[in-house]
Amino acid sequence: TEVPPDGTDHRSPASSEAGHTLFIDGVWGPAASGHTRTIRCPADGTAVATVAEAERSDTERAIAVARRVFDDGTWANSSPWQRGDLLLRVSDILVRDRDEFARAESLDTGKRLVESGYDMDDIAACFRYYGKIAGTDPGHVVDTGLPDAISRVSYEPVGVCGLITPWNFPLLQVAWKVAPAIAAGNTFVLKPSELTPSTAILLMRALAEAGLPAGVGNLVLGAGEQTGAVLAEHADVDMVSFTGGLHTGRTIAASAAATVKRVALELGGKNPNVVFADADFDTAVDYALTAIFLHSGQVCSAGARLVVQDEMHDALVDEIVRRVELIRLGGPFEEEAETGPLISAEHRSKVEDYVAEAVAEGAVLRTGGRRPEGDRFTNGYYYLPTVLDEVQQGTHAVGEESFGPVLTVERFTDEDDAVRIANDTHYGLSAGVFTSDPGKAQRVAGRLRHGTVWINDFHPYLPQAEWGGFKQSGVGRELGPAGLREYQEAKHIYQNI
Ligand code: NAD
Repeated sequence: TEVPPDGTDHRSPASSEAGHTLFIDGVWGPAASGHTRTIRCPADGTAVATVAEAERSDTERAIAVARRVFDDGTWANSSPWQRGDLLLRVSDILVRDRDEFARAESLDTGKRLVESGYDMDDIAACFRYYGKIAGTDPGHVVDTGLPDAISRVSYEPVGVCGLITPWNFPLLQVAWKVAPAIAAGNTFVLKPSELTPSTAILLMRALAEAGLPAGVGNLVLGAGEQTGAVLAEHADVDMVSFTGGLHTGRTIAASAAATVKRVALELGGKNPNVVFADADFDTAVDYALTAIFLHSGQVCSAGARLVVQDEMHDALVDEIVRRVELIRLGGPFEEEAETGPLISAEHRSKVEDYVAEAVAEGAVLRTGGRRPEGDRFTNGYYYLPTVLDEVQQGTHAVGEESFGPVLTVERFTDEDDAVRIANDTHYGLSAGVFTSDPGKAQRVAGRLRHGTVWINDFHPYLPQAEWGGFKQSGVGRELGPAGLREYQEAKHIYQNI
């Protein structure tokens, strides 16, 4: 592991030089091949961790363990109240070890330390929520209408779950799956993004400390095709829950179809942020900026499409451009930094191609559109916050996700036009509405075909409220009571008395 010249300790607490970072059947070990992967901080390219690089055989071993432990029945039939208590203990450990987790997350992602800290608070809250609701739903009695028959519906675990997650909110996406999977009594094999494995390693340690029985939760680390794909295909996996890109989601759904396993998908979004001319101007500017530039736009629910009413267009875009040019870029531990690097050189190239294509289509580049200048940015994957104005319906820039710090701007005339434009996308994850007219806000929110709508705000979510996509943004819901149902089978028991 390299230590950078500024003397900061860039080693992740999750690193293992020998690659003993697979957690299978309650035991830490290396990949069967002995292969390892070096994780590098996107802010400066420093090596921060060495982890195992699993392959098909490691994944198959983890699936076999999860299958055996599920079929044994002890865990699946354990008291949901006890599983809830376990989740509450995990939440306490996350609060206790918040700084260690946040540091590991920032080293892997290049995300500002303060943002990783907020993520950890939300992760602890997610475990707390599922800890509290596990066991509160005993199912329901059904009135048969007959004097000599009784009937009830109960909820049981689905079985072995394959959990596959992305790099942008590495542990948050894991928590949204692991917490309800445990609450419901499933066993699982977790496959986090190969770019950001550290906090998943720390979480497995926390689960073991909280008392999760061996083999209930298993961790494999490695590339998608060698590990994640095995989870989607394998006949012994009953459910695959995936968060990531649309293309990968389609591949996973197709291979899961062969064994008719349950599929939950949380995919991308190209999310409209609709600003009416009667909106409070300063509020609209502030939220338009955080909607897209939080975590350099690498947020599935980012407000990447500013859809603004004609009358406000010029003033709003001018002010946004002025403010964008003041945004300070920097590494995760630089307190002055307001936003950080992209996850990888490859991802930055995709963002650069996206902007080039948009400009070729006729979008007007108002600011950004290039890498920042200065030696301190040379080794990181930085890209300037970018505003593309006057993008047209039907173009690549409107329809596709850049997943980077790129705001595209469209205009609308009236309420119907706003709704039509905001819904004119194959995605449907989130949307914002800014107006000072509460009636209009509710009317428009009701007509938007998106899974979350924020009014005069952007980004807040709650563990107790469902999260997920309409249309090609996904299948199923995470968080809230429905997020638990995803990991349960309903069973109807009818008795002739
Ligand atoms: P990705 O689809 O490339 O990878 C996600 C995960 O899938 C990784 O763990 C990867 O290793 C694995 N994977 C890759 N190929 C696979 C295959 N063939 N079979 C099985 N697993 C495979 O996505 P990413 O680049 O890591 O993340 C960015 C994407 O995730 C964006 O499109 C973003 O919108 C989306 N996302 C959505 C949400 C949401 O809640 N809807 C949240 C975060 C990110």
